Amino acid sequence: MRRYILSLSLFLTLCVLISISYTEARGSELLLEELDKQINEYRPDTKYKDDPFALVTIKEALIAAKEGNYGIGACLIREVDGSVVEKGHNEVFMPYFRIDRHAEMVTMTKYENSQKTEKPNVDGLVLFTSLECCPMCLTRLISAGVPKVYYVASDPIAGMIHLYDNMPPLWQVIAIGRQYGPAECSPELKKLANEIFLLTREALDEKLK
Ligand SMILES: [Zn+2]
Repeated sequence: MRRYILSLSLFLTLCVLISISYTEARGSELLLEELDKQINEYRPDTKYKDDPFALVTIKEALIAAKEGNYGIGACLIREVDGSVVEKGHNEVFMPYFRIDRHAEMVTMTKYENSQKTEKPNVDGLVLFTSLECCPMCLTRLISAGVPKVYYVASDPIAGMIHLYDNMPPLWQVIAIGRQYGPAECSPELKKLANEIFLLTREALDEKLK
């Protein structure tokens, strides 16, 4: 009898755990669908000059989240006419694990591969990212010579731009005269960029522990 009760309670516990995990997965799916709808309905606000580019990064972030990656996107634009030169999104887990494939890295790799020169010309280019750059990406963007880098949502726990004064001196010297900081976009886009990232962060951070 005791064995029967034990088996039954184990079975019930298992059912509850499966049900919680299904509910969580379904909850994330529904949130993603809702974010998708809000993003596709959003029209750039002319009060904010960076809104069109912020929206490009957020659409890329959405693709990343749907693929099972961190919900982060980026784009490289030509400042003179606002044309999008390259865009990319986080690809750390899918299609296969590559820890360096952050959105900014993917975008810069595409651009550098398209140039195939000793030192690709980045004059007049601006990189936008949906989330504040981490130390790895900021180091690469400085080394690549990108003159302006703007982020949509800030990242107080992993972002490096707000900690710029803590970069090793060499990178700070190389980057003199450049502009790295928050994008001039609407609060609504900042909120959307943050929400897409947060929706994916917790579960994926667990995989890195
Ligand atoms: Zn990064």
